[in-house]
Amino acid sequence: MARQGKIWLVGAGPGDPELLTLRAARLLAGAEIVVHDGLVDPAVLTLVPRSARLISVAKSRARQTLPQEDINALLIRHARAGREVVRLKGGDPFIFGRGGEELEAARAARIPVEVVPGITAANGAAAAAQIALTHRDASSIVSFVAGQCKGLAEQDWAGLAGKGRTLVIYMGVATAAQIAEKLMADGLAPDMPLAVVENGARATMRVLRGLLAGLPDLVAREAVVSPALIVIGEVTARDDLAITHIVAEAASCVS
Ligand code: SAH
Repeated sequence: MARQGKIWLVGAGPGDPELLTLRAARLLAGAEIVVHDGLVDPAVLTLVPRSARLISVAKSRARQTLPQEDINALLIRHARAGREVVRLKGGDPFIFGRGGEELEAARAARIPVEVVPGITAANGAAAAAQIALTHRDASSIVSFVAGQCKGLAEQDWAGLAGKGRTLVIYMGVATAAQIAEKLMADGLAPDMPLAVVENGARATMRVLRGLLAGLPDLVAREAVVSPALIVIGEVTARDDLAITHIVAEAASCVS
């Protein structure tokens, strides 16, 4: 009987290979075929053996990302040929990763499929930048939204940001000006603190802090590049507080 193929939808985390799950690392080390996005850090791809076939479906200057249907067809074709296909995605496959579409395509084709979670950018970047997304004193709600141009105006974010809440915006750098405008139109204070985390949890990480009204300026002035997250809420301003406390404590020790 022909060997049964399978599709693994695997989260690659934000970049540092140490943030992979043990299961993801094991699958990569034993992979025969890996289909990955551009967002997957090259450091993670070094775990794939040389004997494996590495297929990128990333954007390049010469061509756009493969259309999703073509990616689905590619995964299914290899699985039907009896291969175990590792579909490797930045962060977590089910957070703005189109993992749901690939899962449905595999099911429709009656191909066994399994999902391995990854650390999503919000969690990886928050840990690296030491921003607690929830905090008993500052936030008991956290929301993840997609800020790309398509459909931004139609999205209802009312109530997701504000006092006691944290809003994490993926894919929002290019639309930072519309995002700030949208949130202020929803009643968010122009002086709500925020942080932009560029290349979160990678060696090149930058954490930029500012206020909502100044977001477009901050992004332009600092020439923020993708991938970056915008985190909006009081939790982003707490380490200034912490620093003040530490300074005050040090001062009180001296006196
Ligand atoms: N599935 C991914 C998200 C894909 S959408 C995940 O779970 O993380 C792509 C967006 O994710 C980027 O535009 C950016 O907003 C965010 N992103 C991904 N990796 C990032 C990183 N290392 N630092 C900051 N943002 C990142």
